[in-house]
Amino acid sequence: MKGRRILIVEDEPALLRGLADVFRSKGCEVVTAADGEAGLERALAANPDLILLDIMLPKMNGYEICRELRQHGLDLPIIMLTAKGQERDIILGLNLGADDYVTKPFKLGEVVARVNAFLRRRSASEAEIWRFGDFELRVAARKLYRSGREVELTSKEYGLLAYLVARRGRALARNKILDAVWGNSVIVTERSVDRCVTTLRSKIEPDPRNPTYIRTVRDIGYRFEPDDEATAGTGASPAPR
Ligand code: CA
Repeated sequence: MKGRRILIVEDEPALLRGLADVFRSKGCEVVTAADGEAGLERALAANPDLILLDIMLPKMNGYEICRELRQHGLDLPIIMLTAKGQERDIILGLNLGADDYVTKPFKLGEVVARVNAFLRRRSASEAEIWRFGDFELRVAARKLYRSGREVELTSKEYGLLAYLVARRGRALARNKILDAVWGNSVIVTERSVDRCVTTLRSKIEPDPRNPTYIRTVRDIGYRFEPDDEATAGTGASPAPR
């Protein structure tokens, strides 16, 4: 994440300082804002690679900022900083265009890991091959292999898996998945996402009832669990979770 520019919008001074310090120590360029208006202005002017966005802010809240940024066509990752027990708020935020959330109180290391996953995905988004466990997703060929042997996927299963894997570590709302994988040309419901997840799990999960790759995020959708650390270069099975 060295050299990346991160905008942090947070009105609690101690928290803002703590976050700024930790990202600066990782070599990031940090831009900060302590209220919503300044946050929006800096998001538009400073061209950050990623935004950490508090929800409850003076002058303008995080939802409004999210909506404004997406209306301006900015597609950078936005990670919301939310208070515990605000599931409704999380869903609202994800629907307004946020990509993920971290629940307060959080450990700084958790935020760093989340940010890192986004920045890494961004720099690797053109990658030809995604690996997880003993699987290999070959993007150009639109095929999945397990230990060198092809796993038969339908076109939608492939699309869904590629979408999830490319966004590993992020909570993805059903409606976002639906738009991205099914498009808006066909009349489908969010149940289609669930059904496709079920068949996909039966093909890739060691135990489909206890999924380790495609995790359910309650009330929201799904998250593909990153396991690159466990499997990098070894082709070994994922570590148990
Ligand atoms: Ca706040």
